[in-house]
Amino acid sequence: MATEALATIDRERLRTLIERERAAFAERNPRSRKLFAETGRTLLGGVPMSWMTMWAGGFPLFFERAAGSSISDVDGHDYVDFCLGDTGAMAGHAPEPTAAAVDRQYRRGTTTMLPTEDAAWVGRELVRRFGLDAWQFALTATDANRWVLRMARQVTGRPKVLVFNYCYHGTVDETVISLDEHGEACSRAGNVGPAVDPAVTTKVVEFNDTDALEQALAPGDVACVLAEPALTNIGIVLPEPGFHDALRDITRRTGTLLVIDETHTLSSGPGGYTAAHGLDPDMMTMGKAIAGGIPIGAYGMRREIADQVLAADVDLEDTGGVGGTLAGNALSLAAARATLEQVLTDDAFARMIPLAERFTAGVNEVLRSRRMPWNIVQLGARAEYRFTPRPPRNGGESAAAHDAELDAYMHLHLMNRDVLITPFHNMALMCPATTERDVDRHTEVFAEAVGDLLGDR
Ligand code: PMP
Repeated sequence: MATEALATIDRERLRTLIERERAAFAERNPRSRKLFAETGRTLLGGVPMSWMTMWAGGFPLFFERAAGSSISDVDGHDYVDFCLGDTGAMAGHAPEPTAAAVDRQYRRGTTTMLPTEDAAWVGRELVRRFGLDAWQFALTATDANRWVLRMARQVTGRPKVLVFNYCYHGTVDETVISLDEHGEACSRAGNVGPAVDPAVTTKVVEFNDTDALEQALAPGDVACVLAEPALTNIGIVLPEPGFHDALRDITRRTGTLLVIDETHTLSSGPGGYTAAHGLDPDMMTMGKAIAGGIPIGAYGMRREIADQVLAADVDLEDTGGVGGTLAGNALSLAAARATLEQVLTDDAFARMIPLAERFTAGVNEVLRSRRMPWNIVQLGARAEYRFTPRPPRNGGESAAAHDAELDAYMHLHLMNRDVLITPFHNMALMCPATTERDVDRHTEVFAEAVGDLLGDR
């Protein structure tokens, strides 16, 4: 057995490196820095959307152009982009078939309150890929989740929902919740102006904890479990063998609907994690990538539930709390059709997933050779590293493993060498345009970052 100790992180050195990288970042991005100083006077927090402040450099890079797997910024740098808009650009930036469809449809009209033939095509395709019978559209995955939760409560007549600790399903009131140190559900730290304490609406258990799930669903007051099939918003936490069978069995036995959120796990294959692993949910939600970067959300359900939704004595069509003026618009659907038909195809996944394997193998080889106590987990076309020796088993464990300094250092180091990963994750996603060269560039820079941390230079 190897007796050599695992590498330990010298925190003093880490802080010095962060300072070095932050100074280099400011130095090499004068135009972005200047633009941020200007937007600081006009935009809330200096950005058009608050999470753009989460990039590690202290100010965001302003981009000029994004195409395929790369982004060019206003200071003339060309980045290999593994962030891909935190999945919004999983089809790559501006894929040609989607660009052409958007151009064509915009000129034909976008928002009429009438369907187009594309709606028929996309409906058929979602049924084919995901196996659920009846679909509807939103503009975001958040809205898809919100509307599905309403429908689930309506048809079951039950008041509560259940989510897993440290889940993220968008800005859905019921889901901004976590377990406190006593294992009790509480409003998640930082929840902005909640209308009601989410503990009133929602139960929370740890992912992979079937006993806790069984107990929480036993009283029969939960309308649905809303779950990512693998957690992807607190690192990647994979389901343990048998977990999904148990989840399905317990939900069925207790009359609880099972909603699978495929927004991120669509990286598992053309029919998401559900098709790749034979899951059998009652309802499903998604968004972000399926229209190639044009806003869309989608939700589907089994026929029997669709019938109950349509038969319910509620105002589904107008002011009952489901829907949006621009939801299901012709532009979203034209973009979704082009993206699903020509970009996020079976062939594309057959290239993207091996690239994520290559990415994972590259990182693993660096970790192994440098005895680094970190791990990387792959989920189809995406992979994420965490700064723990073994992958966390649940959201609580993964949250406890958070290391803000290491996050900042790795992100800065990568950005200063023209590689982008998702800011609030250490996540890398492959798109159809990603190349082996892109992946190898990351491995090279990652090895350099680890080397610097261990004092090679
Ligand atoms: N579901 C999951 C699993 C997500 O990761 C996200 C966003 N990261 C959402 C839903 C919400 O997506 P959006 O912000 O586009 O509404």
